[in-house]
Amino acid sequence: MYYSEDFVEEVRGRNDIIDVISSYVNLKRNGSNYVGLCPFHNEKTPSFSVSPGKQMYYCFGCSSGGNVFTFLMEYENLTFVEALEQLADRAGMALPKQTNGDAEKIKRDIRDKILEIYKEAAKFYYALLKSERGQAAREYLQNRKLQEDTIRGFGLGYAHVSGGLYPYMRKKGYEDDLLKQTGLFTYHEKKGVYDKFWNRIVFPIMNRSGKVIAFGGRVMGEGMPKYLNSPETLIFDKSRNLYGLNFVHGKPAAGLILCEGYMDVIALHQAGFTNTVASLGTSLTSQHSSLLKRYSDLVYLCYDSDGAGVKAALRAIPICKEAGLTIKVIDLKPFKDPDGMTG
Ligand SMILES: [Zn+2]
Repeated sequence: MYYSEDFVEEVRGRNDIIDVISSYVNLKRNGSNYVGLCPFHNEKTPSFSVSPGKQMYYCFGCSSGGNVFTFLMEYENLTFVEALEQLADRAGMALPKQTNGDAEKIKRDIRDKILEIYKEAAKFYYALLKSERGQAAREYLQNRKLQEDTIRGFGLGYAHVSGGLYPYMRKKGYEDDLLKQTGLFTYHEKKGVYDKFWNRIVFPIMNRSGKVIAFGGRVMGEGMPKYLNSPETLIFDKSRNLYGLNFVHGKPAAGLILCEGYMDVIALHQAGFTNTVASLGTSLTSQHSSLLKRYSDLVYLCYDSDGAGVKAALRAIPICKEAGLTIKVIDLKPFKDPDGMTG
């Protein structure tokens, strides 16, 4: 991706640094500047200062400083291009056409549409969980000791036995050509179209900007498979995404905790370990480990204590080491998994 200097300047001009930083840090006016508690180090008295005149920030405690782009890069662990795109989006600006023109544009439009469908689907599943038909699912989550805030924060939902997402999407006006590319439906030549997720608790998988890009589903009761993920699509590459990473901000001083499943991440977040992530139904890849490295140099492996978990941990260790990460292994025994430990 290449963006012209002009475009970069326009994005900068349309994102006032006070507005942007205010959505992350509580700022108070102090003379011609604004001050607040620094998001990059722990402090009790504010030494983080933002200048609306210079459109720059500086911390007198830890010397971090920069402009609106560097703030977002530091805070959200983004590359420059990612920060630029996020700020352009925030200002409602369309991204300029890249050189190979139309084909790229068509692909980008489809991606945007698929993102829109996933967002609608997440709302659909969430509403079902809250409805009368979601009662058994709500009870299941309560038995797993999940609090209301946690369920909302992770956007958990429910896919009912009789489905219903497909007619819902058709009613919204989405055509089959597009719906086929979402991976959320099974197209059967003779029997018609089915929802892929039914009778499952649904876990929205979000990218680092908090957009839903996939779903994981855990079956209610004893059906198979126990866990099901939506497939890779134009918006989802499972080897490049980690579940829970959208909730990790800055560079956690305590390092990151890497576990195996959605429920582990959710249970640990609820217990206060908001630096927990999981690979998505796949073994750890080198892309995962370099992603982890952008957030921390230290990773605690918190895999299940059964045979499969130990095997997965043994596979993950060299991959993490190769990325330059320091690895510590958490021994969960006598518990099987982090969810069992916190629950
Ligand atoms: Zn600081």
